[in-house]
Amino acid sequence: MDFDLPDDVRAMKKKAREFAVREFTPEIAAKFDEEENYPDDIRRKAFSEGYIDMSNPWGMLVAMEEFCRVDAGLGLSAIVPAFGSEVVMLFGSEEQKKNYLEPVMRGEKISGFAITDSGAGSDVAGISATLQKVDGGDYLLNGQKTFITNGAIADHFYLLARSSPAMPDKRHRGLTMVVVESRMEGFRATQLKGKLGMRATNTAELTFNNVRIPAANVIGEEGRAFYYVMTFFNISRIYVAAQALGIAQGALDRLKSYIASLKASGRPIASLESTQFLVAEVASRVEAARLLTYRAASYLFKFNPDPVATSIAKYYAAETATYAVTRVLEFMGADGITTDLERAYRDAKIMEIWEGTSEVEKLIIARMIDQREDAR
Ligand SMILES: Cc1cc2nc3c(=O)[nH]c(=O)nc-3n(C[C@H](O)[C@H](O)[C@H](O)COP(=O)(O)OP(=O)(O)OC[C@H]3O[C@@H](n4cnc5c(N)ncnc54)[C@H](O)[C@@H]3O)c2cc1C
Repeated sequence: MDFDLPDDVRAMKKKAREFAVREFTPEIAAKFDEEENYPDDIRRKAFSEGYIDMSNPWGMLVAMEEFCRVDAGLGLSAIVPAFGSEVVMLFGSEEQKKNYLEPVMRGEKISGFAITDSGAGSDVAGISATLQKVDGGDYLLNGQKTFITNGAIADHFYLLARSSPAMPDKRHRGLTMVVVESRMEGFRATQLKGKLGMRATNTAELTFNNVRIPAANVIGEEGRAFYYVMTFFNISRIYVAAQALGIAQGALDRLKSYIASLKASGRPIASLESTQFLVAEVASRVEAARLLTYRAASYLFKFNPDPVATSIAKYYAAETATYAVTRVLEFMGADGITTDLERAYRDAKIMEIWEGTSEVEKLIIARMIDQREDAR
């Protein structure tokens, strides 16, 4: 068992840290958070420096961690333009890869992943958007999706809809994934503003009014998309764990520099021992979150994903982010709520909600923990 990252991954991590410190200045991070605008220039720079490269998943993972360590809203925005692309990479046709994956990998287009609708978030099989077959094998898409990342800026979406009625005990069947282009007639996106955190990311509500979807845009097999979505979550949750880990590490960084500034200014520190305890408690959890995240990633990147390890990493790292930011904010008192830690406090909470809430992760862990191979 080797706990060290390979040299090339460590080099990428260092480079990503330097990029984030250089590009995500406190002024820029505050501006995008306040204005709730997507930082397209930062996306372009991140792309040109090689951070969006699905052939280098470890590189993307450690870049996500280091970016979010400095600022999670900008950090995610820089890496999220390819959101959902794993689905077409794993289950799409050659033509779909050429039309949709390759332009994203060239930095020319942005993708999104549209599952949640207003009636169903955690309960994926409960979605109500529909696909109805029409003459010639095409489909008409009707319905709505909400809280869709990249919603108002993406060129296309990998979208889940119901293509045959739900059977009471087999609701996961009859769900189909299609590629929907934002330029298709009947498509509308409305940006959602006023989110608690991650405000530099673009989030929108999408509506579909008789959008005609060519049969060639069905990903994989009709009716089998529940399986594709779960496969995707086993990948994306590891990247959310890395976002959360970055936020937690960022809180620890801020704690250490705050203590150093207190010492330098001669301001009294309540109790040196309790301060050391706080550093140790936060640092220990950050370290545990890092080990869990890298362990889940190493299974996945060796093509042997472990859903339990993934859910544990996502659940633990997300809770560590809120724990770390809260503890540090409390220690800093009024100084905490007037610095960029305030933004991290808001960003951290989102980690416990998207890509599977903490409750959903716990249900997966509890249901599957006994089914794992003993070898783990
Ligand atoms: C900023 C942001 C961006 C997002 N981006 C996307 C995106 O790009 N694409 C997309 O498809 N979705 C996206 N989402 C939606 C996100 O995935 C959902 O919010 C999430 O799945 C939870 O669904 P929900 O909000 O409907 O909450 P609900 O599912 O209604 O859950 C509400 C509460 O009930 C709990 N709960 C639910 N089911 C159970 C259960 N069985 N047992 C115990 N407790 C339960 C939950 O844990 C939660 O506390 C985004 C959300 C946010 C906030």
